Amino acid sequence: MRPHRGCISPTYTAQMEIVMSLIDKALKANQAYAKKHDRKLGARPTPKIAVVTCMDPRLSDLPGILGLPHADLDVIRTGGPAVTEDVLAELVVSTRVLGTTEIMLLNHTGCGFTTFTDDELNAKLTALTGDGSPAPMRFFSYRDPEQNTREQIKKVRSHPWIAKEVPVRGFIFDVETGVITEVREIPKNAAA
Ligand SMILES: [Zn+2]
Repeated sequence: MRPHRGCISPTYTAQMEIVMSLIDKALKANQAYAKKHDRKLGARPTPKIAVVTCMDPRLSDLPGILGLPHADLDVIRTGGPAVTEDVLAELVVSTRVLGTTEIMLLNHTGCGFTTFTDDELNAKLTALTGDGSPAPMRFFSYRDPEQNTREQIKKVRSHPWIAKEVPVRGFIFDVETGVITEVREIPKNAAA
């Protein structure tokens, strides 16, 4: 009745089981969490700063990394991070609807998105699955975090719906040292 079952590799099945067991564990833990949940968190949030950062788990402790409370952070995470049209829309909502007043673009060293090119990953996944129909999929892979950050600043800064008074600043988090370094925009007279 399930002709495709044989196509699922044992590794994939094992991975599915691991994922399922973690979710089940999380559901159980949530029952305990809900008992001591702070009901005030149900109120409308008033974040003060929008932070765009990578989905990499090493960037998850933003209150620790930035010394700002959870409640102040409107966190937008993608791989890279990639500043996609969706991210731009979220930044517009963050600044215009939620009321954040600063935008921080937080890249990092050792990003997984520097370990392949979009072309390579498209080819690899097409070969792996035998189905190239989603290609070319845009993964926003990149080589140089500094260059990536500069392009992001430009992209966000030039959006007509993001107010000029909102500072847009880019940084790189060093995953080894924990230090954040600001990436300066290229001076206007420098070659692009
Ligand atoms: Zn990353």
